[in-house]
Amino acid sequence: MNQTRSKTLFKEAAALIPGGVNSPVRAGKAVGATPLFIDRAQGAEIVDADGNVYIDYIGSWGPMILGHRHPAVMAAIETVLKRGLSFGASTDLEARLARMVADAMPSIEMVRMVNSGTEATMSAIRLARGITGRDGLVKFDGCYHGHADMLLVDAGSGVATQAIPGSPGVPADVVRHTISLPYNNTAALKECLDRQGEQIACVIVEPVAGNMGMVEPDPEFLSALRKETEKHGCLLIFDEVMSGFRVAYGGAQARYSITPDITCLGKVIGGGMPVGAYGGSRQIMKHIAPEGNIYQAGTLSGNPVAMAAGIATLSELNKPGVYEGLETRTRRLADGLARTAADAGVPVQAHAVGAMLGLFFTDRPVTDFASAKTSDLSRFAAYYRAMLGKGIFLAPSQFEAIFVSTAHTDDHIDRTVNAAKAVFAGL
Ligand SMILES: *Cc1c(COP(=O)(O)O)cnc(C)c1O
Repeated sequence: MNQTRSKTLFKEAAALIPGGVNSPVRAGKAVGATPLFIDRAQGAEIVDADGNVYIDYIGSWGPMILGHRHPAVMAAIETVLKRGLSFGASTDLEARLARMVADAMPSIEMVRMVNSGTEATMSAIRLARGITGRDGLVKFDGCYHGHADMLLVDAGSGVATQAIPGSPGVPADVVRHTISLPYNNTAALKECLDRQGEQIACVIVEPVAGNMGMVEPDPEFLSALRKETEKHGCLLIFDEVMSGFRVAYGGAQARYSITPDITCLGKVIGGGMPVGAYGGSRQIMKHIAPEGNIYQAGTLSGNPVAMAAGIATLSELNKPGVYEGLETRTRRLADGLARTAADAGVPVQAHAVGAMLGLFFTDRPVTDFASAKTSDLSRFAAYYRAMLGKGIFLAPSQFEAIFVSTAHTDDHIDRTVNAAKAVFAGL
């Protein structure tokens, strides 16, 4: 496969942009590859600067759940584009998207729009701290909640891929209040809250973890989170930036029937435009300025183009049968990959939840960050490069999820499994 144009563009970019990329996860260092430069995409397929076509399992890291250039989303954007790009004043689109979010997630009565998942989580934590008057924050190893200082402790995604424990530039005083516990470990959670629950403002979790690869929650762990936070007066924050509208229309909270206090959203709700949001009960959200005194703001927040993309995306997703279709195809891919790996004698763990998939190159069951890290990273890198050569566009890291969209057909899935069959045999 000829990727010379991507290589040239990368060289030019690397002279001007740190690492040649505007988000570290796009780099290929961990898998010994040069990042592809993209020309365009349509449906489940993405085309690089050299004209190579790939089946896309990155989906812009989650947002493109309808595939690329879905006609309903494109039409909605084109309509609002004609009226202007940004006004710094309200439009009816903001309350319309807020209504759709509240209808999808009964834990949310009010929602504030922001511009990224990072903004959603940092604002949700400020809100929790402001309400409780406590500073402590509990998170879980391998979960990623964006790049705010207090959350860069044992984080997943790019932080895990680059093997950075935290980050220089994060003051020790800021992370002094952050406790990171093993995921899916109810005993560790109970022990921590029993010891210092009254200092903890909130517990933030990815209810389906997607930033250490995809790791399924133990339902008992999720219900313990709800019970224990309530007992100690801490707020429970579900970071559904990735899982929201992906593992079910109502997110992980609908799938596992748990009601969090605050929910963070992003990715899918922007349909490919930069959007984040956080929401909860009226009782909680009324503390946000200007109704309350906890400050949070944004020049471009609630941007009309972004709102229109979000509304169109959720409208499509809310049609009957969409999640059944997504789930069936994601399961077909997970089963296909597991079967062909087993046939080739390559030990893997394949899990699927909704339209998210995890594939780990390890013979151990993966339930948390420690077990995810038993994966054979050089084997993953070889798999990644060989799959790319066969036209399969995967995230260049063992610690990222695989995303299926409504545009992926059985044919796309079967071609992917066939590619994997040849690749596994050569590992
Ligand atoms: C992607 C992600 C974020 C950060 O969102 P950005 O838009 O990249 O800032 C936060 N939490 C989770 C669970 C995510 O997957």
